[in-house]
Amino acid sequence: MAQQYDVIVLGLGAMGSATAAHLARAGHTVLGIEQFSPLHSNGSTHGKGRIIREAYFEDPAYVPLVQRAYTLWRELESETNQQLLRVTGGLNIGMPESEFVSGSKRSGDLHGLPYDYLSAAEAQQRFPGLRLPEEMVAVFEPNAGVLLPEGCLDAYYQVARRHGAELRFGERVLGWDAAVDAVRVTTPVGEYQADRLVITAGPWTAQVLADLGLPLEVWRIVNVHFEPRDPAAFAIEHFPVYLMQVPEGDYYGFPAVPGEGVKIGRHDIGEVCTPDAIRREVDQAEIDMLHNVLARYLPGAEGEVLWTLTCMYTNTPDRHFIIERHPGDERVVYGCGFSGHGFKFASAVGEVLAELAVEGRTRHEIGFLSSARFGVS
Ligand SMILES: Cc1cc2nc3c(=O)[nH]c(=O)nc-3n(C[C@H](O)[C@H](O)[C@H](O)COP(=O)(O)OP(=O)(O)OC[C@H]3O[C@@H](n4cnc5c(N)ncnc54)[C@H](O)[C@@H]3O)c2cc1C
Repeated sequence: MAQQYDVIVLGLGAMGSATAAHLARAGHTVLGIEQFSPLHSNGSTHGKGRIIREAYFEDPAYVPLVQRAYTLWRELESETNQQLLRVTGGLNIGMPESEFVSGSKRSGDLHGLPYDYLSAAEAQQRFPGLRLPEEMVAVFEPNAGVLLPEGCLDAYYQVARRHGAELRFGERVLGWDAAVDAVRVTTPVGEYQADRLVITAGPWTAQVLADLGLPLEVWRIVNVHFEPRDPAAFAIEHFPVYLMQVPEGDYYGFPAVPGEGVKIGRHDIGEVCTPDAIRREVDQAEIDMLHNVLARYLPGAEGEVLWTLTCMYTNTPDRHFIIERHPGDERVVYGCGFSGHGFKFASAVGEVLAELAVEGRTRHEIGFLSSARFGVS
């Protein structure tokens, strides 16, 4: 007879690892199933850094959730005795009316967050590595910083296991089915049963939840690490993370870390792909585009290429997440569509999904993330 768990978590990336840890810590019997090895680089969560920021330009409704995420990341650090979050401060750069600038200012004002509104000259004075056209401005938020995504996942695996969770890697879920007595999940190894199922399949969500027809689009995203020509100007000790909305597009970047250089990526466009057929090689034209943006706005950061990588955004049409109960069965909950900005929330999303799965509701305000906005409910 198949072993029975309280909850099965399908997909152990950012959101699934956190959910498994929250559930196990709360005393539930948990089975986590992941198709690849721990810390694989086939999904959305590999690489050296993820930006965390508080004055959320996308929507002020995210602010309480990101504040909870900060608290939970700090707790995870204490629990596993390691540093996962480094505060560097962050710049949201653009024209005054741009979404990055006006949106972060709006969130900052609505939630009384600390920030400085800087002219281009003031921003350059504070961060001499920057070169901004004089009509641009920047919102500097002191609490922004860098999370180590692989360290965070590993920490959640540790916590989940410490509290008794069984994590199975290298096992792809082939199907699931909500029967009367239990939710059943099938893999090539066998069948597992649980009272509840949490689906956190990242870019594979459209396959795992094919019945829902969710409006998800997977994008191939390129990141390039450059060895700065002037490492001191961009060193993490005094240079912040940044997002830039400039005529060349929307970009995000990280300060220089020895051995890793500076990382930059483009946020507003990506090649549409599927997770099982994504183009992994990076073109010279893609490298040149990122190089040229650095050369213009952070001259001296654009040295030799250290390495490139591809990763995936799973976008919703409005770029907001979907956290929901399955309309066909309330024992099944899911989180997806974390687009290009979900990682920082993983600690809090894990808590939300764990609560939704077990209690059927969450203390967090997540109504704005309902699938009802896409007519799926
Ligand atoms: C280049 C890049 C930069 C980013 N920068 C930032 C940033 O600075 N700040 C930020 O907050 N966010 C950022 N993001 C977004 C963030 O990383 C993602 O939103 C987040 O990692 C998504 O996590 P996930 O758990 O949904 O997906 P994943 O981490 O991909 O996890 C899904 C998991 O489910 C598994 N799975 C799927 N189907 C099955 C199956 N059938 N059986 C078993 N396992 C299965 C997959 O193998 C995978 O491990 C960035 C993303 C990219 C790609």
